[in-house]
Amino acid sequence: MSNILITGATGHLGKATINALLNKGVNAGKISALVRNEKKAQDLKEMGIKILVADYEDYNSLVKAFACVDQLLFISGSDVMNRNQQQQNVVKAAVEAKVKHVIYTSALNRLPIEQSAISFVSQAHVKTEQWLAESGLNYTILQNSLYADVIPQFIGDVLNTQTIYLPAAQGKTAFVVRTDIAEAAAAVLTSDGHNGKTYKITNTESYTYQNVADIISDITGKSITYISPTVEDFTATLENAGLPAETIGGFTAFALAQANDEFNVTGIDLEVLLNRKPTNLKEYLIDIYAK
Ligand code: NAP
Repeated sequence: MSNILITGATGHLGKATINALLNKGVNAGKISALVRNEKKAQDLKEMGIKILVADYEDYNSLVKAFACVDQLLFISGSDVMNRNQQQQNVVKAAVEAKVKHVIYTSALNRLPIEQSAISFVSQAHVKTEQWLAESGLNYTILQNSLYADVIPQFIGDVLNTQTIYLPAAQGKTAFVVRTDIAEAAAAVLTSDGHNGKTYKITNTESYTYQNVADIISDITGKSITYISPTVEDFTATLENAGLPAETIGGFTAFALAQANDEFNVTGIDLEVLLNRKPTNLKEYLIDIYAK
């Protein structure tokens, strides 16, 4: 069986993918985890996963970690400002180490980058896809939609405020739960026929925040209102609440991307990889707000 290496293994998606591989019956001895801080990997060690310490910033550490890897799950980095050089390092190191197949967690890109409200995030994904295409490596792209798991951050303490306040207008998003993405990644890592493919890891339906408010109202019995303010009012409200400018900028950009329908891409790629229906928005919201 193939040697599998998961990067970003101390993060949410990396850990969930390792769990999905183990649930599929993959032997822990065949899975390695690339981490930059070994202290965060104690739980993985206890599961019998081999820990390799490397950093996307450190090319030589990557080449060493990638030796003898058949399947590399390359989870995009979280350091948005420095990702270009880091991710180019990963692709080049995979070439040098002769990795057999790289699976990269990218993002949906419904709009051209110049029109995207989150181009500062998306541009590294677009470039990394290009680098992989030009690398000569065998590769597969998972273009992930927006995680449903980010909704609680965007809508705050909604059960107390009973209001969703976000400039996302009537834009629709096909939310996916992170554990479904992990299960799909595990399916790609453990089956053949994915080389050269780009999968849109998205759900079969998309929703507005009015839909989110209506579902939470329905499942909790509370009456939740959705207000989509102007960007100016939204910014002023968050500034008054004491949030840092960087956080306000991030919330605003992602709300505008949703207003632009940037994640309004539905499809069945995820359903096919999972061989079941993806978790839908109502199931996710029940899990978070009504259990
Ligand atoms: P996460 O929990 O923040 O995990 C990110 C992982 O990347 C962590 O293990 C982190 O290591 C590792 N990492 C960051 N910089 C690194 C570097 N220089 N060298 C080596 N490892 C590095 O994020 P997630 O929820 O698992 O999501 C995975 C990725 O998807 C994110 O990194 C981001 O690119 C993207 N994302 C997508 C969405 C979406 O809605 N589609 C939402 C959020 C993020 P440490 O544990 O040491 O920090």
